[in-house]
Amino acid sequence: MNVGHNIFTVEAFKQQRIHMTDVGFVPTMGALHDGHLALIKACLLECQTCIVSIYVNPTQFAAHEDLNTYPKTLEIDLNKLHGLNSDIIVVLPTEQDMYPNGIQAGTTIQMLKGSLYEGMIRPHFFGGVCTIVTKLLNLVQPKIAYFGQKDFQQASIITQLVQDLLLDIQIRIVPTIREPNGLAMSSRNIYLSKDQKTKSLCLYNLLQHIKSILPISTNLQLDIQTIKSQFNASNPFQLEYLEIVHGMSLEPVLHSFDFTNISTPFYISNSIVSIMAAIKLNDSLRLIDNLVIRNKSSF
Ligand code: AMP
Repeated sequence: MNVGHNIFTVEAFKQQRIHMTDVGFVPTMGALHDGHLALIKACLLECQTCIVSIYVNPTQFAAHEDLNTYPKTLEIDLNKLHGLNSDIIVVLPTEQDMYPNGIQAGTTIQMLKGSLYEGMIRPHFFGGVCTIVTKLLNLVQPKIAYFGQKDFQQASIITQLVQDLLLDIQIRIVPTIREPNGLAMSSRNIYLSKDQKTKSLCLYNLLQHIKSILPISTNLQLDIQTIKSQFNASNPFQLEYLEIVHGMSLEPVLHSFDFTNISTPFYISNSIVSIMAAIKLNDSLRLIDNLVIRNKSSF
């Protein structure tokens, strides 16, 4: 990557966009790690042009959340992109670019599924995400946009958003990249102490445990309730939610089933099933994670 020539302001990007074909797009908030790089590598494999945006979107943070302290590591990010040794175009929007009429007065996009699960705990979150993603997709006009399985509900919501708004864009989901011990990579993991990092593995173990009972459970809902109670009794962290959901509808899966694993980029549909959970470490720290599988006998 020729960093000097490939970093665009939104204005400069708009002028160049017209010459770009077969565009793949990876929106990020920066503080890039191997999870982000997996999305970019998937994009480089499939698309002639790979565009990465770095923008910390204020409208997806509530007043009490970490907007002001969210990690900003632009120089390191650009070095990581440079290290991929590929032609990557980086767009760095400003708040004025993304919210030309101001944040309070602007147009917003909401979705019903945005009030479930994560949305119950962060009611503002998916409105902010849907709004910024729509703006970025309109700006970049990609053929394919790449999102991480790590944020499964977000991936499902964006898949529906693109359908509902008749956007001619494919949404590709890239499997979660984990630390060697299983912890899902996240820009916010830098907030975790060594001890918290070790203890928070209980989240991944919980998901694995649920996955292991799926083909054999005779009463899935009851088993989940039991596992939730056991988790809360034996772990220092509060379980905020634990659900097994159909990928597209996000409706709970009611019965046990046989599955296949998914390890390559995929599209979301109702044959994809996600085991999603979130734990609260303390007042300002929470972790989300999920496992996806494909229901063999999907409808
Ligand atoms: P963020 O910068 O946190 O907004 O994330 C940008 C994109 O990277 C989103 O589509 C995330 O779902 C995705 N992502 C974040 N962490 C991971 C991970 N560990 N593995 C795969 N994708 C990820």
